[in-house]
Amino acid sequence: LRHGPEGPDMTSTTPESGRRDPHPGETGAPRVVVVTGAASGIGRAAVELFVERGAGVVAVDHDERTLKEVARLDRVVPLAGDVSTEETNHTAVALAVEEFGGLDAVVLNAGIGGTRPFEAPGAIEAADRILAVNLRGPILGIQAAAPLLRAGGGGAIVVTASVAGLRADPGTWAYNASKGALINLVRAAAIDYATQGIRVNALAPGLTWTRINAGVRQDPVLTAEIERRIPLQRFAEPREQAEAIWFLASPAASYITGTTLVVDGGLDASLGTLP
Ligand code: NAD
Repeated sequence: LRHGPEGPDMTSTTPESGRRDPHPGETGAPRVVVVTGAASGIGRAAVELFVERGAGVVAVDHDERTLKEVARLDRVVPLAGDVSTEETNHTAVALAVEEFGGLDAVVLNAGIGGTRPFEAPGAIEAADRILAVNLRGPILGIQAAAPLLRAGGGGAIVVTASVAGLRADPGTWAYNASKGALINLVRAAAIDYATQGIRVNALAPGLTWTRINAGVRQDPVLTAEIERRIPLQRFAEPREQAEAIWFLASPAASYITGTTLVVDGGLDASLGTLP
């Protein structure tokens, strides 16, 4: 057993069928999780939720100052690093094994915006960086985590994409491209890893109150204008995204792989016509 005597019973059978559970690594809630982009917003809310529900978490972020605040939580091991490097991803999963004795799930959530107009000076350099963090980062995360998840009998990978990967906004082409690619990356990885008991899914958040939208929050007129276009008439709280991450990482989602869970207050379902 990877987690000591109280860990999941690797020899269990499913009561309904009497068959041996095909994915013994998923018999219980995730107990050891790596979360990237963990210092702020959705990632931080996910760390808090996993810890509340009994998991040990390796919290990865390149913002050392805010990461220190998250590191004050019990059962959180911080790792300062850039997710677009192999080193950070490999160190993160190695720390999970070293500190908590295994790995059940990874939440590849770190992401950045900052697209410049197509023809602006520096546009391609800005796009390179967005793609490195938003796409290369999760690819490296999958490469690093999969062997350990497989070794434990299976597990879950959750990638934070965006509704911006399903539709486009004016002036955010590089972000749109990175998140759209992530959604198809998740499908491809899900297919490749399905027989190894590793589920891979994306979360597509809609507008959520995090640092990414700090500028909007300071403008009540703009906020009200945006909220009128969201069917549920408000931005999400980070915790509401974390609950969806939890679900995708948990055995409650044991038959879900290769999909994108849209958590957007109805934005993507809407034509945007104002009532
Ligand atoms: P956030 O800025 O509050 O959190 C992102 C975290 O990622 C930060 O702590 C940041 O330091 C970290 N990070 C950025 N680049 C990194 C790197 N190279 N290496 C390590 N850490 C890095 O924003 P958030 O809204 O919580 O964003 C989380 C994810 O949700 C992102 O992928 C974002 O694209 C996605 N998302 C957010 C919204 C929204 O409205 N907030 C909507 C859709 C998707």
